[in-house]
Amino acid sequence: MTRIVAIGECMVEMASAGADIYRMGFAGDTMNTAWYLRRLLGEADQVDYFTAVGTDDLSDRMVTFLQDAGLGTDHIQRRRDLSVGLYTIQLQDGERSFSYWRGQSAARSLARDARALMSALTQADVAYLSGITLAILPAPDRATLLRSLGEFKAAGGQVVLDPNLRPKLWEDEDTMRRVVTEAASVSDVVLPSHEDEASWFGDAAPAATANRYASQGSALIIVKNGAGQILAWQDGNVSLHDPVTVSDVVDTTAAGDSFNAGFLACWFNGSSVAEAVQSGAGLAAQVVQSRGALVS
Ligand code: AMP
Repeated sequence: MTRIVAIGECMVEMASAGADIYRMGFAGDTMNTAWYLRRLLGEADQVDYFTAVGTDDLSDRMVTFLQDAGLGTDHIQRRRDLSVGLYTIQLQDGERSFSYWRGQSAARSLARDARALMSALTQADVAYLSGITLAILPAPDRATLLRSLGEFKAAGGQVVLDPNLRPKLWEDEDTMRRVVTEAASVSDVVLPSHEDEASWFGDAAPAATANRYASQGSALIIVKNGAGQILAWQDGNVSLHDPVTVSDVVDTTAAGDSFNAGFLACWFNGSSVAEAVQSGAGLAAQVVQSRGALVS
């Protein structure tokens, strides 16, 4: 039995569905991974989502959505003065564009209360977070989260990080690089995407990405690479793995998030790195052939 707590922000998604009509859904990188993990893991396994939401109707609907997806919501904090973040997806000439309203999102306060955080972590074997989780927090709360994860790790927990580098969410690029590197130093498993790492850390090749995170002490690093080969670094051993070929890519939203879930579900069940990478690549290949983040 594996107990996972995914930490981050779930947002309301309003996807354009014709002139002046939007369809409401919920999505967010860590929640997408938790959602897929819940579907892939066994009944005995537990996947919790840790975040903060408001007390309004939209927040209630989000929590109900998470519960209906089978995710544990016991540790979700409620903030009376805040609500949930929201984004819209507009389609124009076949191109998707996104607008975000997340300044008032309660999720920004998810690490305000260290006791609530530790209470969720002490009931888990694995903590899963992303660079976006860290990006949205005030600086003191980032420190609280990383300190709590360090304690969780010292007590035998496993920390899994997807750096998910999104410079727009950070105050500046240097802070992003510094905090993500610090987060990697308390992580057992790091799941970066090479394209992001090349853009913001200047890595010339996936091996450079793996070596950089390995130097922070992580035991396992899987470098995703779009349609290119996936590089796995495990305790100094490097292997390359082909993704699943997709002839008709429709929408790459959540490719990385679903890859992570496919990989981790296998990895937690004792599969080899090669089997787990194939599982991640297989799921991501299905997801990129449909529109939207959550493909049932
Ligand atoms: P990325 O975050 O773009 O590196 O993508 C994550 C994972 O999704 C990759 O490692 C692949 O397994 C899968 N993926 C993304 N784009 C494609 C594609 N065009 N064809 C096949 N697999 C893909």
